[in-house]
Amino acid sequence: MNISVIGSGYVGLITGAGFAKLGHKVICVDVVKEKVDAINAGKPHLYEEGLPQLLKEVVPKHLSATTDLARAIKETELTFIGVGTPPQKDGNPDLTFIRQAAASIGEALKQKTGYHVVVVKSTVTPGTSEDVVGRLIEQHSGKKANRDFGLAMSPEFLREGKAIDDFFNPVRVVIGSRDERAVKVLQDLYKPLHARVIVTEPKVAELIKYASNAFLATKISFANEVGNLCKALGIDVYEVMEGVGLDPRIGRAFLDAGPGYGGSCLPKDLNALRGVAGRSKVQTTLLDAVKKVNDEQPILMVRLAEKHLGSLKGKTIGLMGVAFKPGTDDIRESQAIPICAELLLKGAKVVAHDPEAAANMQKLFPQVQFLNSPEAVVAGSSAVLIVTGWPEHASPELYRNAVVIDGRHLIPKDACKIYEGLGW
Ligand code: NAD
Repeated sequence: MNISVIGSGYVGLITGAGFAKLGHKVICVDVVKEKVDAINAGKPHLYEEGLPQLLKEVVPKHLSATTDLARAIKETELTFIGVGTPPQKDGNPDLTFIRQAAASIGEALKQKTGYHVVVVKSTVTPGTSEDVVGRLIEQHSGKKANRDFGLAMSPEFLREGKAIDDFFNPVRVVIGSRDERAVKVLQDLYKPLHARVIVTEPKVAELIKYASNAFLATKISFANEVGNLCKALGIDVYEVMEGVGLDPRIGRAFLDAGPGYGGSCLPKDLNALRGVAGRSKVQTTLLDAVKKVNDEQPILMVRLAEKHLGSLKGKTIGLMGVAFKPGTDDIRESQAIPICAELLLKGAKVVAHDPEAAANMQKLFPQVQFLNSPEAVVAGSSAVLIVTGWPEHASPELYRNAVVIDGRHLIPKDACKIYEGLGW
């Protein structure tokens, strides 16, 4: 099948490369020419394990990239929209990129004969795929959704760092559409992946994504609250969660206490869901508490450093990792950001090491000095905060004489001079 993907970031590029590997002909579209040039050279513009090898296999025979959205629509029969939906100040997703993409797709479809399926993959609040994307395409194309073109919403569940594996082994595929033809096209497309497929209305598909992420965030904040109690009682929350997680009704995943959840999805999607509820005059007591716990959690790491060092003014504090989790260069909503801001506010000098995310963090905090090795960070710091949990930072020998605030349960307690865990 000929497939176009609008937006070639984490979701779009991995979706495009995945379908290309399955033998489809894929055109990735982006507004940023440097990203398009990198993809056409077979080089990812973002860090994701396995992606360089995958692009090498599929570019140029099965995958190409362009800034020319109209040509991509003309030459394909199915289009995924994977543009960003970043949070606005009030927490609601900014739909600017979605609106632009939908309008351009509409203009391109005006020039095209034949049936075309448009699938929203970006995370959008309930109603957006039909009321915003569908309507804009109709206005700009003069065509009718689910008659002249198929409209579907299929949320993305990939995890950065494991995104390629998640593409080829999805736990479930959700297809939200009122158009039987579009559903059939998507069912056939996903058949080789042997996933459980759920077919539903677009707004249900949209809410499945938000409710999933809100639940994952809830599990993390729950583990952190129990972890804070564990710390007061002299108990290791990881031992507790091993026992708790064995119950199949609960499950062990997302019960790792630490500095809290970050990344481009969980914080943004939880806030968006709270916003949707607020507009529907529905209270979100639980989700509000999940956010509150998560906002306080990273600051606890700074408080633990102060417990041992006193005032941080003029002292050098080392950060081990700034990415929101290991395996990615993504720092969006990373808990390293509030930690860094608090340290700087307290007058500390911040040095850091991250195998992939240094350049991204440097743009946000030019005053943070990134060093070439974890050893250099430990050597020059009064205390070291393990923020991300990279395997590169897991060697206990690194920390022999250090004061360590371990946010990720990464090293043994006796590996260093002074050790503090977050919930242990
Ligand atoms: P991203 O910012 O990495 O990528 C979006 C890309 O879209 C950028 O490269 C941008 O230049 C491009 N773009 C913007 N407007 C465009 C336009 N009009 N035409 C063509 N390209 C355009 O974002 P992402 O992380 O890939 O996320 C995309 C969507 O998927 C978001 O809604 C996000 O919430 C959702 N999502 C992300 C993840 C994740 O782990 N990153 C997982 C599941 C869902």
